[in-house]
Amino acid sequence: MAESFDVLIVGAGAAGLMCAIAAGARGRRVLVVEHANRVGKKILMSGGGRCNFTNTGATPANYLSTNPHFCKSALARYTPADFIAMVERHRIAYHEKELGQLFCDDSSKQIVRMLLDECAEAGVRIETSCSIEKVRHGDAGFHVDTARGAFTAPALVVASGGLSIPSMGASGFGYELARQFGHNVLPTRAGLVPLTLSGKHQERLADLAGVALPVEARCNGVSFRNFMLVTHRGISGPSILQISSYWNPGDDLRLDLLPNEDTFTWLQMQRAERPASELKTVLADCIPKRFAQRLCEHWLANKPMRQYHEAELRTIADLLGDWPLVASGTEGYRTAEVTLGGVDTDELSSTTMQSKRVPGLYFIGEVVDVTGWLGGYNFQWAWASGHACGGAV
Ligand SMILES: Cc1cc2nc3c(=O)[nH]c(=O)nc-3n(C[C@H](O)[C@H](O)[C@H](O)COP(=O)(O)OP(=O)(O)OC[C@H]3O[C@@H](n4cnc5c(N)ncnc54)[C@H](O)[C@@H]3O)c2cc1C
Repeated sequence: MAESFDVLIVGAGAAGLMCAIAAGARGRRVLVVEHANRVGKKILMSGGGRCNFTNTGATPANYLSTNPHFCKSALARYTPADFIAMVERHRIAYHEKELGQLFCDDSSKQIVRMLLDECAEAGVRIETSCSIEKVRHGDAGFHVDTARGAFTAPALVVASGGLSIPSMGASGFGYELARQFGHNVLPTRAGLVPLTLSGKHQERLADLAGVALPVEARCNGVSFRNFMLVTHRGISGPSILQISSYWNPGDDLRLDLLPNEDTFTWLQMQRAERPASELKTVLADCIPKRFAQRLCEHWLANKPMRQYHEAELRTIADLLGDWPLVASGTEGYRTAEVTLGGVDTDELSSTTMQSKRVPGLYFIGEVVDVTGWLGGYNFQWAWASGHACGGAV
């Protein structure tokens, strides 16, 4: 005999737990089914163990989606201030790192503890190590067979996340279920992920692994100014992770290596002030020395500043300000923070996250085709979409 609930939620991650709290607080009998052995594994590993739980500046402009309007309603109805109020109610100390990014002072375990306490208060039941065998839909609602028995409910919420970090429980379950019920799933790919280089770029940079420098990364009309880190296989760091979400294989990727300077004017000044200094020495004032040397070995002709003509300085400035890098790929889901694409928003209500095809079916969080920038935006989408759904389900 199947046990019945008002709401079944698949996935005890950020979105699923928030949805459970909101629905449970409204008196709904909620069961959360989680196939991993513990809840919120991604929350635990996020933000280097300190969970960048929101971004005070989050707006719809910080999200990628085929329909950029879809996220607006949920984000407007559950704001960073709402989540911060919960964090403060639980007396979790936090700080702003940069650009509105809020982190726990101590540990992301506190965020998971807070969500579990809220779930307990709202009477939510959570089953971990509970894999789903089959989902059926009939007149009585949804019937779910799991390793821990059968459950029924008129509402089924899919909060099973994306494909990134399979070792943390990520699965394609949500996409498969969406297809099972006739939903369109937009192509998925790794986002917020290091890029790999090949050929001469890789050969010339690989031994600089560990070197970091501020850059402005540009691709497809979007740019991010922050640090880049050279890795053994390519490039990473916040500016590269951000731009990776906008990069597709074959796309033109450019880096401004002196983003804080008007490079041509700066080079002219250096020539006037330090005519005997070589270019690599001059550049090392702004760029890590080894990186500056490498640029002068392979990309720029190195000589004393006084020997450069105006046109040569212009060429150097153009190259430093718009350095073309050919990325060969990404490090993939193994290291990606998010999955781009997913359940098409065209067939979901933006106010409740309910399917327009199958009444009672809902999709929230990362499984939906809404992906945030690096910096707390993805959790804010998980909280907001979970809250919107939990208030309606
Ligand atoms: C290393 C790393 C660091 C990150 N740091 C940050 C950060 O600091 N700030 C930020 O905003 N975002 C961060 N993110 C992104 C953020 O973790 C996700 O966007 C967010 O967790 C998505 O929430 P979700 O609830 O949709 O999915 P998840 O949190 O991934 O939860 C999905 C849950 O569903 C479960 N599940 C999957 N399949 C099944 C199934 N078949 N049956 C039952 N359960 C299932 C999973 O085990 C998981 O518990 C980070 C991601 C990674 C990988």
